[in-house]
Amino acid sequence: MSDGRANLLLVDDREENLLALEAILEPLGHRLVSVTASSDALKELLREDFACILLDVQMPEIDGFELATLIKQRKRSQHIPIIFVTALSKDEKLVYRGYSAGAVDYIFKPIDPDVLRSKVSVFVELWEKSRQLREQAEQLHEQELHALERASEERYRQLADAMPQIVWTSDPQGGATYFNRRWFEYTGMSADDVGPNAWQLAVHPDDLPAAIVRREDTLRTGETFDVEYRFRGADGGYRWHLGRAVPMRDANGEIEFWIGTATDIHDRKRVEEQRSFIVSVGDTLSRSLDYRETLKQVAEFAAGNIADWCSVHIVEPDGAISELAVAHQDPAKLTFARELQERYPPDPAGETGPAAVIRTGEPELVSEITDEMLHAAARDELHLGLLEELGLTSYMCVPLKGRDAVLGAITLIASDPARRFGPEDLSLAEELARRAANAIENARLYREAEARAQAARVLATIGDGVFLVDRSGRVRLWNSAAQWITGLHEDDVLGRPASTAIPGWDAMQPRIPVASAGEAARAESIPLQLHERELWLSMSAVGYEDGTVYAFRDLTEERALESMRQDLVATVSHELRTPLAAIYGAALTLRRNDVELEAELHDKLLEVIAEESDRLADIVNDLLLASQLDSGRLRANIERCDPREIVELEILAARIHLPAQVELQLDAPEDVPAVAADSGQLRQVISNLLENAIKYSPNGGTINVALEPNDRHVRFAISDTGLGIPPGEQRRIFEKFYRLDPDMSRGIGGTGLGLYICRELVRRVDGRIWVESDGSSGSTFYVEIPQEAQAAAASPSRHRIVTT
Ligand code: ADP
Repeated sequence: MSDGRANLLLVDDREENLLALEAILEPLGHRLVSVTASSDALKELLREDFACILLDVQMPEIDGFELATLIKQRKRSQHIPIIFVTALSKDEKLVYRGYSAGAVDYIFKPIDPDVLRSKVSVFVELWEKSRQLREQAEQLHEQELHALERASEERYRQLADAMPQIVWTSDPQGGATYFNRRWFEYTGMSADDVGPNAWQLAVHPDDLPAAIVRREDTLRTGETFDVEYRFRGADGGYRWHLGRAVPMRDANGEIEFWIGTATDIHDRKRVEEQRSFIVSVGDTLSRSLDYRETLKQVAEFAAGNIADWCSVHIVEPDGAISELAVAHQDPAKLTFARELQERYPPDPAGETGPAAVIRTGEPELVSEITDEMLHAAARDELHLGLLEELGLTSYMCVPLKGRDAVLGAITLIASDPARRFGPEDLSLAEELARRAANAIENARLYREAEARAQAARVLATIGDGVFLVDRSGRVRLWNSAAQWITGLHEDDVLGRPASTAIPGWDAMQPRIPVASAGEAARAESIPLQLHERELWLSMSAVGYEDGTVYAFRDLTEERALESMRQDLVATVSHELRTPLAAIYGAALTLRRNDVELEAELHDKLLEVIAEESDRLADIVNDLLLASQLDSGRLRANIERCDPREIVELEILAARIHLPAQVELQLDAPEDVPAVAADSGQLRQVISNLLENAIKYSPNGGTINVALEPNDRHVRFAISDTGLGIPPGEQRRIFEKFYRLDPDMSRGIGGTGLGLYICRELVRRVDGRIWVESDGSSGSTFYVEIPQEAQAAAASPSRHRIVTT
């Protein structure tokens, strides 16, 4: 339409009218669109923009007025001027209706071509004017838009420059088109340095390959670029950045350019790294109690993560500083590091280095090691050479602080210019040292505790009594042997003064020789008087800074054996000598030729010889029996025995030699259950007890033998009205050779073996023997033997029961 031609819509139901209109308007040179139906007219109006409509008033379907109303109702066509063409009279009413329907003019038939042309021309001109105006407005709008765009771009640039982040843009191919001010500040690059791939120059070589791959991916797919990498700063140090880039698309969705940012996440990243480092180190440290091995692992780990080279020094128990571990992440440099440390151990007098850190407990940090420093530190040419070979850039050394002392030091060294230790690194190293020191102390404490526990276990299990008396005289340790030897319970002794806790301590303590630690202790035999008994202890003591440790062992039994041996010799020799003397005397008398012996005396002497020989035989038998019992050589042949029968037989035997003043009686029910015993041995027991009852009733009296069956046993009770046995001796009379009156002041002979033999024989058939006596008015000896039925039921396999 810019050719100046306007569209004119001609509407008339009659073709000839349309032709006439076309003929009139043709010379104006506009595009004429003629339609015969109102509906076609509406369609055309939707399709084109018209400068003017010529409308026939009278049409069959919709008349011109109605069509005009419809046209005016539509937004698109409401401003198009409508000229009514009519043959009707110039009736005012009609004219008025036409105007109210939106007509701007009327043309009455017959049409005057000039008038119509000039009217249409006016409207076309008007339309043309408004079109130009519209175009001008559009142009103006576009120009304004451009200006605005330019202004906003500038604003964005200013904004981007003001941002603390690095901001850049790139073309759709990824070539950089803009870097903000922060970029230049951070990298130290100048505007001339920045080519399309300038960013690649700043990324750490280790991070670059992955970043390039990702960038290419995103350029191809249009996905957001999102990568963490280290950017080199103007000072040559690297800091972690989070790089992001998003594509900017035009209205068609095509990528116009990319906007990228790089945010410094160095601190966050470090904290993360440090945290995970500390976590793994803590894990390693807590895994084992072998701290030497563990610290080696920590060194390896540190050398690969927070430093290039790590060494650990430790203070040995003798105070010397030894190197526990050295690790370098570069295997080639590890050799140099090892050699360096072997040749040049920490200088104990040095003002810096592990020895100094251990001495002062203060950490050291050198962020940047200069050549001058290296020269100053080197002890000779070789030292300097090794130091240079290792290429040191940064150094720190932290003490391993224990609770009471510095246990060692960890040295961390960087040889990569990209790694410079700062205060944060130092605090990380200190944290590492704290944990390592803890691990060392724990391991040592554990070992000590283990050793102590071991010692305690030994103390608890050894057979010697051990106790400890501190400087204030209180008992601080009382082992279980001490407890069971003395019968004094730990609870009654521990923490109490020895003089009240241990009976007779004050008297016995000065007699115990106290050796000093490391010296051989000499033992002393010392009696300990406890409530009822006397113990003989062999006691030795060793003094140490906090008190004295006493060790003792029970000699009571050895002493008892010793006295028993002496008793045996005394008793047996005495007991043997008496009958021997009698036999010897009788024999001598019989042999005399100078005196004529009466036949009666002759017989009497022979009788003495026979009786005393019997007595000798008895003593020897008892000795033999006791020795068989001791050595376990005597076997019991357990069988069914009738208690009544046994007792009756023994009473009968006893009566043969019964002194005149002694009475012997049996008190037993008719039916006594059978017992399980060796009948010969059981008879021996009863015989011994009857003999004793008679022997120890020197003034005569009544001896009663009773049989009392109960649930499981048959009890034999032999009571006399003789000398009696004091309660304190009732247990001991069953011991071997024990006699109440060893000196025989009362003239009653004996070996002290009888009751011992009884006890041993009764024990062998699961029986029991004991005595009851008030110590003055006679005694009752009880023997309990299991009933045969019980014994068979209780342990059928243990004894062979011979039923008769
Ligand atoms: P022995 O009679 O040969 O001395 P025993 O072993 O038979 O040896 O007895 C040990 C001690 O027990 C005796 O020396 C005596 O003092 C005491 N004894 C034994 N039986 C009696 C009793 N019935 N009455 C008083 N004392 C007794």
